[in-house]
Amino acid sequence: MIDTKLILPMHYFFNRLTLCFISFLYPILTTAHTHPLHTINTEKAAKIPIQTILNTKSISDFCRDIGNKLGSVDRYDCNKQELRYSDGYSLQGYPLVYKEYPPLKSRQPLGKVLLMGGIHGDEYSAISIMFRLMEKLNQYHSGLFHWKVIPNLNPDGLLQNKSQRQNHRGVDLNRNFPSANWDALALKYWKEKTYKNPRRYPGPFALSEPETIWFSKVIEDFSPDVIIAVHAPHRLVDFDGSINAPKKLGKLQLRLLGTYPGSLGNYAGVDLDIPVVTVELASAGIMPSESDISGMWIDIVRWLRQEIPKMN
Ligand SMILES: [Zn+2]
Repeated sequence: MIDTKLILPMHYFFNRLTLCFISFLYPILTTAHTHPLHTINTEKAAKIPIQTILNTKSISDFCRDIGNKLGSVDRYDCNKQELRYSDGYSLQGYPLVYKEYPPLKSRQPLGKVLLMGGIHGDEYSAISIMFRLMEKLNQYHSGLFHWKVIPNLNPDGLLQNKSQRQNHRGVDLNRNFPSANWDALALKYWKEKTYKNPRRYPGPFALSEPETIWFSKVIEDFSPDVIIAVHAPHRLVDFDGSINAPKKLGKLQLRLLGTYPGSLGNYAGVDLDIPVVTVELASAGIMPSESDISGMWIDIVRWLRQEIPKMN
């Protein structure tokens, strides 16, 4: 026997789902195949999380849960950053937070840098270090660059009982960006090269996830000169772009790994020609020392100072 109490809500839910599909997802699905940046209606796409996520959490909920999860960041470290959010939520209702260090009156910035961590939820150090880097910027931001920092792009992956690489729906967000080769290669690559490794699942279609939709909109709106994405634990620097790569960042040496369909390096670094520096810390569970972080930071700023003026 069917529980009649369920019929109306389910009927209502499916109607809402269909409506949502027609109004928001359909235009994306039908336009995302030519040139990603200019054809996706990100204004509509960015509304998907708001329309479909019922129980949204606050920044203070996010900071409480981050503090409970990460050994190197407590909720006060997180709260004192005065993080902001605009219109993006994860599937579990966490706000997709950022902090901006805008141009100062005293000088014209050399360029814009988008710094992002935590796209993979089980790379703890890659999220914790973002709080250390924000502390450096709080102290030393001189207006040399205009920074936007996104400390944790995949809060659902991190903030569940057992943290995981993928987002709540099991999608590897770093394979879900709409690179030009996504339709031809992403699922084929996943099946044939990774043997359907669930940790590398690129999603049913490009930009199927609220986190990648939101981040693509950030790229479009902020229009960075360089993107720096922090990962762990491969102990290297990878680079996608047409300018000179940094040879080393602190103790991490440059080692080019190539690109994957749907990765940020492929989408932004190759297709959009926005250089992407991928920092792979040495351990996912252990933070680099303060001196290693400082060495890395000095090299990042030195490289940006050398390369960004050549681009403009
Ligand atoms: Zn990673």
